[in-house]
Amino acid sequence: MNREWLEKDFYKELGISSSATAEDVKKAYRKLARDLHPDKNPGDAKAEERFKAVSEAHAVLADPEKRKEYDEARRLFASGGFGRGGFSPGGASGSYGPGGFATGEFNLGDIFGGAAAAGGDGGLGDLLGGLFNRGGGAGARTSSRPRRGSDVETETTLGFREAAQGVTVPLRMTSPSPCTTCHGSGAKPGTSPRVCPHCNGSGVISRNQGAFGFSEPCDDCRGTGSIIDDPCPDCHGSGIQNRTRTITVRIPPGVRDGQRIRLAGQGEAGLRGAPAGDLYVTVHVSQDKVFGRNGDDLTLVLPVSYSELVLGTTVSVPTLDGRVGVKVPPGTADGRTLRVRGRGVPKRGGGAGDLLVTVKVAVPQKLDDNASEALRRYAEAEKTSGFDPRAGWAGV
Ligand SMILES: [Zn+2]
Ligand SMILES: [Zn+2]
Repeated sequence: MNREWLEKDFYKELGISSSATAEDVKKAYRKLARDLHPDKNPGDAKAEERFKAVSEAHAVLADPEKRKEYDEARRLFASGGFGRGGFSPGGASGSYGPGGFATGEFNLGDIFGGAAAAGGDGGLGDLLGGLFNRGGGAGARTSSRPRRGSDVETETTLGFREAAQGVTVPLRMTSPSPCTTCHGSGAKPGTSPRVCPHCNGSGVISRNQGAFGFSEPCDDCRGTGSIIDDPCPDCHGSGIQNRTRTITVRIPPGVRDGQRIRLAGQGEAGLRGAPAGDLYVTVHVSQDKVFGRNGDDLTLVLPVSYSELVLGTTVSVPTLDGRVGVKVPPGTADGRTLRVRGRGVPKRGGGAGDLLVTVKVAVPQKLDDNASEALRRYAEAEKTSGFDPRAGWAGV
C-alpha cells in the first residue's frame, strides 16, 4: 500500500469512472498517452506533467491487484479511516480543468528532467518499477527488485540546415553504469553480497499502523536486501560508476527548435539486469541568415527591385539543396509570397514542405543621373497612363 495513492484520483486522471472495465482503462490510457506524449508536445510542461500523471494512474489501474488495493484504500479513506482532507471519493468521471489533477506531495516533476543528475533516483522507470515497494516515501531510495534504468535527459544544438535535413551527431554523456570492477554487485571482486538477515533479502520491513500495513525500507541493508561486507574499492559498494560515453545519435530531418527526441534504451543502465532507460534529447536549432521555417515550409525574403516586380523576372534563390529559379510574374505586389512546391523541409514520412519566397522591394538610396532622369520621365508617363497609387484609398 502506498500513502501517495490516497491523495490521487487515478480514475479522474484517466477520465473514467471507478466502475470502468479493464478495457476502458486501457483505451483511456492509450488515447491520453498518445495525445500527451512529450514527442508530440515538445516544450509543453503541462502536457508533460499530465503524461506522467496518466502513466502513473495507468500503472495502478491496469494491474488488477493494485487496483483492488487502491479501491480499498480509497473506500477506507473516504469513510474517515485517515484524517487527511482533500480527497474526493467516488471516482468522479471526466472533466478535469487545468491544474485539477496536480495534487499530492509526490514529486513527479523530475521524472524526465534531471534524472541523470539525480544519479538514478526519480526516473520514470523508477516510478513504474519502484512505486509499489517504495513504502513510506523519502527514505526509500533503493529497491530490492530489478529496476529499469532511469531516463536520461540531454540537449544538443544543431545548425538550421542540419536540423532541416537531418544529421548524425555525437553526444557525450556522463551517466551511471554498472561498475566494471564488480560487475554491478558492489562487492569486492572475489567476494559476494550476502542476504540481509533482518529483512530476509526483501529489502523491506512491514509495519502495522491502524488498518494499514506499511512497508518501510530495511535499515540494515538500506532497502537493497543484501549486505556487502567487503565493498568494491572502485564504486564503494554502490555497484555503479559514472561513466562518460559518446553515443552517435541520428537526428531525423525536419526536427524543430525545442523538440524532444526519444531514443529507446539509450538511457541509464538498469539495475540487476533490468532494461536500460530511455534517452531524451532536446534539440535546439540555431537561426539561419537566409532561411526561416514555418512547420515544414521553408521561408525566405527575396529582395527585388520595383521594376522587377512590374515587368516580371526569374530570380535564382537558394534552397536546402541547390538553387532554384523562382518566376516573379509581371505586376507582382510587394510583399507577395510565391510558393515553390516540394523545396521546403523534408518530412518524416517522405516528401518535403514548400519553399515560400516573399518578395520585398529594395529601394535604391542613390541613382546616377541617367537613372534619375529616366525615373522622372517614367513618373510622368505613369501619371499619364492613369495609374494612381492612392486610388480608392482613405477617401481619395
Ligand atoms: Zn564496484
Ligand atoms: Zn535488510
